Amino acid sequence: MVSIIADSTTDSTTDSITDSITGSAIAIQTAQPVAVPLLGQSVELLTAWVVQQGQPAYRGKQLHQWIYQKGIRSIDEVTVFPKKWRAEVRDFPIGRSHLHYRSTAPDGTVKYLLKLTDGHIIEAVGIPSSKRLTVCVSSQIGCPMGCDFCATGKGGFARNLETYEIVDQVLTVQEDFGRRVSNIVFMGMGEPLLNTDNVVAAVRSLNQDIGIGQRMITVSTVGIPGHIRRLAEQQLQVTLAVSLHASNQTLRTQLIPSAEKYPLQDLLSECRDYVKLTGRRVTFEYIVLADLNDRPEHALELANELRGFQSHVNLIPYNPITEADYKRPTRKRVEDFTQQLKDKGIAVSVRYSRGLEEDAACGQLRASKAATSTLAPTLG
Ligand code: SAH
Ligand code: SF4
Repeated sequence: MVSIIADSTTDSTTDSITDSITGSAIAIQTAQPVAVPLLGQSVELLTAWVVQQGQPAYRGKQLHQWIYQKGIRSIDEVTVFPKKWRAEVRDFPIGRSHLHYRSTAPDGTVKYLLKLTDGHIIEAVGIPSSKRLTVCVSSQIGCPMGCDFCATGKGGFARNLETYEIVDQVLTVQEDFGRRVSNIVFMGMGEPLLNTDNVVAAVRSLNQDIGIGQRMITVSTVGIPGHIRRLAEQQLQVTLAVSLHASNQTLRTQLIPSAEKYPLQDLLSECRDYVKLTGRRVTFEYIVLADLNDRPEHALELANELRGFQSHVNLIPYNPITEADYKRPTRKRVEDFTQQLKDKGIAVSVRYSRGLEEDAACGQLRASKAATSTLAPTLG
């Protein structure tokens, strides 16, 4: 079924009527349908919408091109559409954010603070290299998981992002760099698998509407029970990255409060199902925290857990945040840990984060001061 006007997303406006007995005014809530923004909608849905508006079907394809290729912010900008109709629908929401702040790190990484239509501010990061332009996208405003080493986790949580708010981040970076985005990592603010439906819809839109290969998209999760399997059932070709960060349950719980309700063995078993269902290997992310999870016994324990697993380990040296006092490991320590894993036959690489200087690196994204005050405390 085609539905651009969602039944479930309703805005309530308050009307008042007069109580016939007391004569006083009573407030009543009337539900009004809210228009779902056009960004993130497929060409089929956009076609259905223009037809619903009494326009010829071919205008759906035109609208699609103007939204995804020309980056319009109002239908009024679509000069190939009749003036009269443009005037009628000029305020129909497209769903684009506004650039609130932009900063460039010396290594070329660009951090964007984007203001959403409801005033919340989220972060996205553009990471260029000669061959690629990678966008690190947010999936939530803040994050409720409360991981102890993560600035986002310390900053509170407001809500999930809508599909169009995720797609918008990619279009914004693409337009700003003036070159095509090649890769996406869901490693910005938030836990993508607490927002699986919108993340999956965004992946499909990024793939079909913007033309980014599914294999170029990585969804990173700390693990939400049942949701890795749900993602696998979508039969996408995306890469799943699981934030492990510890070689045993006790240490993991210390770093990630939610791990208490999701034992390491259950998480790994769900990851094995993912490999079985999708035929794709899993990446395990492991933040290396000096003197905490970087000793030879941890490497050995990790190697034992992952033996025979179709996977790849990504070591991320901890990026210090002001809210926690973990230490960044020395290069030598990271190299030794890498070698210990390699010796045990584990596929491993080290990821040195870009954009550290601008607070644009992994785990550094936090809501701006203006937005933080509206966030609720974290669960952890
Ligand atoms: N919530 C998801 C995705 C966002 S976090 C997840 O946790 O996987 C993206 C990545 O940044 C994760 O691997 C996360 O563990 C890492 N990260 C968070 N804080 C970090 C820090 N201070 N230093 C290095 N990496 C960090
Ligand atoms: Fe959320 Fe990921 Fe940060 Fe944990 S590491 S608080 S899950 S964003």
